Amino acid sequence: MTPISFEFYPPKTEEQRTQLDRSVQKLKAHAPQFMSVTFGAGGSTLSHTPETVQRLRSQHGVAGVPHITCVGGNREEIRSLLKLYRALGCDRVVALRGDTPSGMVRSGDMRYASELVELIRAEHGDHFHVEVAAYPETHPQAEDALADLRHFKIKVDAGANSAITQYFYNTDAYFRFVDDARALGIDIPIIPGIMPISNFSQLRRFSEACGAEIPRWVVQRMRAYGDDVDSVRAFASDFVAALCRRLIEGGAPGLHFYTLNLSKPTQAILQRL
Ligand code: FAD
Repeated sequence: MTPISFEFYPPKTEEQRTQLDRSVQKLKAHAPQFMSVTFGAGGSTLSHTPETVQRLRSQHGVAGVPHITCVGGNREEIRSLLKLYRALGCDRVVALRGDTPSGMVRSGDMRYASELVELIRAEHGDHFHVEVAAYPETHPQAEDALADLRHFKIKVDAGANSAITQYFYNTDAYFRFVDDARALGIDIPIIPGIMPISNFSQLRRFSEACGAEIPRWVVQRMRAYGDDVDSVRAFASDFVAALCRRLIEGGAPGLHFYTLNLSKPTQAILQRL
């Protein structure tokens, strides 16, 4: 069985908390390896990520895993977060640079995720399994695809254990990226990030920002279905499930689902697999 994991964002309101609880309850049934919780760079969810990780671990009994970003936070803040997560029983973290609105980065901050990985290894040895991000379609701020791959290798050499990719809808990009990484001597598992499709116009905005390409034929299909919600849902689930199937058949070591705190779009895919 291919290991799976789910990603959530930390709820801020009571209503969002209830929704998270409902989704976690349903998705737990798929026996995920872990459930991760994002972290808003710049401090916006500074207090909500630990609280949510704790909620996952104590209330739901699942392996809650925090994301930690290094821009917008100083080393001392990161040190105390790592201590807190250790105290909560965490032995895995997702280490990222994060994205901060311009002007919010304070002096002395780390610039790249590789520096965060170095700090974790220097101060916690092998305690944490460290996941990092990878970009089969290239990080939008990278000079070019090869420079981005070399930067990925710096993170791995700093001590990352595995990587989760940005979402993509083109398996060729993933398999080529894995081949290129192997050719550079990167041998850690590279787990595809999977974005189920629920709100298509929101997805198009996200994809513009993070550089993920949505195939033209998919856009045309979605446009044709218009407000026919049932057709949109069925098509989106079939399309993403087929993508997952190709990834598994091609040897992907796991699947990481960006749930956006919703259970149904992810479940619809898992049921099809
Ligand atoms: P890095 O690895 O530091 O790379 C960032 C850029 O800098 C790249 O263009 C890279 O090529 C370049 N670079 C790296 N090292 C060097 C170097 N030594 N010299 C020159 N250039 C270099 N964001 C959040 O805010 N919170 C989250 O919880 C979160 N979770 C995520 C989870 C996953 C699985 C993924 C894929 C992304 C997530 N993000 C999150 C988004 C992520 O923070 C952004 O994509 C961010 O822009 C880059 O983060 P990174 O860790 O990949 O950065």
